[in-house]
Amino acid sequence: MSLVVMKFGGTSVEDPAAIRRTAAIVAGRVAQGKQPIVVVSAMAKVTDQLLRAAAIAAEGDRTGALAISSRLRSRHRDTAAALVADSGALVDRIDLKFDSLDEILRGLSAILELTPRVSDLIVSFGELFSSRIVAAAFREQGINTVHVDSRQIIITDSQFQKAIPQDDLIEERVPKKLLPLLAAGQVPVMGGFIASNQAGISTTLGRGGSDFTAALIGGALRAEAIEIWTDVDGIMTADPRVCPDALRVKVISFEEAAELAYFGAKVLHPATILPAVKKNIPVLVLNSRNAACEGTRIISLPPHCKSPFKSIAVKKKLSIIDVVASRMLMTHGYMKDIFDIFDKHECPVDMVSTSEVSVSLTVDSNEKLPSIAADLGQLADVKYEGKKALVCLVGDDIRGQSGMAAQVFNAIRHINVRMISQGASEINMSFMIDEDDADEAVRSLHAAFFQDPDPAIFDVDARKTK
Ligand code: ASP
Ligand code: MG
Repeated sequence: MSLVVMKFGGTSVEDPAAIRRTAAIVAGRVAQGKQPIVVVSAMAKVTDQLLRAAAIAAEGDRTGALAISSRLRSRHRDTAAALVADSGALVDRIDLKFDSLDEILRGLSAILELTPRVSDLIVSFGELFSSRIVAAAFREQGINTVHVDSRQIIITDSQFQKAIPQDDLIEERVPKKLLPLLAAGQVPVMGGFIASNQAGISTTLGRGGSDFTAALIGGALRAEAIEIWTDVDGIMTADPRVCPDALRVKVISFEEAAELAYFGAKVLHPATILPAVKKNIPVLVLNSRNAACEGTRIISLPPHCKSPFKSIAVKKKLSIIDVVASRMLMTHGYMKDIFDIFDKHECPVDMVSTSEVSVSLTVDSNEKLPSIAADLGQLADVKYEGKKALVCLVGDDIRGQSGMAAQVFNAIRHINVRMISQGASEINMSFMIDEDDADEAVRSLHAAFFQDPDPAIFDVDARKTK
C-alpha cells in the first residue's frame, strides 16, 4: 500500500469552495493509486472564536458567548448544506452538538471559571465539525470516505491544552483502527489537534496541532509521505512580500526547516514533525490553492546545495536586554542568576551573547520586561530596547565554509548590527538589527546570495518566466 497522510489547514476547509478544492485534491491522489488518510483543522478562525466564546462566557458575558456560538452554528450549517445534497441528518447532528456547546457556555457563565480541561472540550468542537462536514462532502464527491474520531486513536496524557502524545498507545491504536479501513479501500477523514487521555476525556495537542496529528498518524502507519496542505507554495528563500525575487525551496532538511519554523510558524512547527523525522518519512508542504505546484519537500538528507544558504527568515517585535556587571569578571554562577530571573518570569530567551563583563539577551517584546529588568537590576546595570528584529540565514554546513561571515556582513555593511550569533548550530547564522532595517537587510542578503541559485534546490524556472 502506498499510504499518504494529507493534512489540510483551516484555510483549506474554510468554506464550501475550499472544501471542494480539497476533495478534488484527495480524489486526485486516489486516482494516482495512493491511499490517503485525511487530517483536517477546524475551519479558518473557528478555534480562535471558540476560545473567545469560552473566555467571555467565563467572564459572565453569556449573551456574547452565545452570539459567537450562534454565528458558528450558521456557518457550519450553511457549509454543510452547500456541500451535501441530502444534508438533513448532518445538519441535525451539527445542531445537536451546538446545543451541547451552548449548554457548556451557559454553565461557564454561571460558574465563572474556565479550566484548561473545559477549554479543550470547547475547542474540540472546531475539528469535530470540520471533519464531519469534510467527510460528508468527500462522500458527495464520490470518494469512499469514512469519518474517524481522532480521540479514539490519538491518546495523550492529561496536560490539557498541550497534551503529550502517548506513543505506545498511538502506535498500537492507529494501525488497528485505520489499516482495516484502508484495506477496504476507504479514505479515513479525521480532525487534527484533538485527542483524548486514557480515560477518554478530550485533550488537545496545542495550537497548530493538526500538523502534529498528521505526523503521529504518518509515523504510526509508516506512511510513504506526509503532505501538509496550506495556502503558500512552500518554504521560500525569503518572504515574497518583502523580496519579490524570492524563490521556492524545492527540498530542505528537517533541521533547516526546524530552524525556519521559529520564524514562520505559518508553515510548520518543528516539534510537530518530529514523529516523521524519527521514522524518516518525508514531509511535503503544498498549496491547496495551487495544487499543481510541487511545494517543498522536507527530508533527512537533501542533496548538497551549491549556494551556502537556503532561506533568510526574520522575526520582528524583539527586545534586547543588556546586562553589564564588572563583578562578573572571573566569577561563576552569574549566568545562572540571570537565567533564574527569566525563568521566574516564564520568559523564553531567544539569543544570548556574552563578553567577560556583559551579557546581551533577546526576548519577544512583552509586558513583563520592566519587572524582569527591575529584578536584573539587583544584579547589575540593565538596559533594554525594543523594536529589534532577528535575521537568520539557514543553510547546510555554514560552519564549514570559510569567509561566510565576511560575505554576510559585507552584504549589509550599511546596516548597524547589534548582536551576532553563529556556531550554536551548523546551519544557522543570525544577527539582530533595528526592526526598521530588517526588510532592507533581507533584500540585500537575498541579492548577494541568491543571484545564481542551484536549480537542484530552488525553483529557478519561476524566475525565468518572470
Ligand atoms: N485548529 C487548531 C488551531 O487553530 C489546530 C490547527 O489548526 O492545527 O490551532
Ligand atoms: Mg496550522
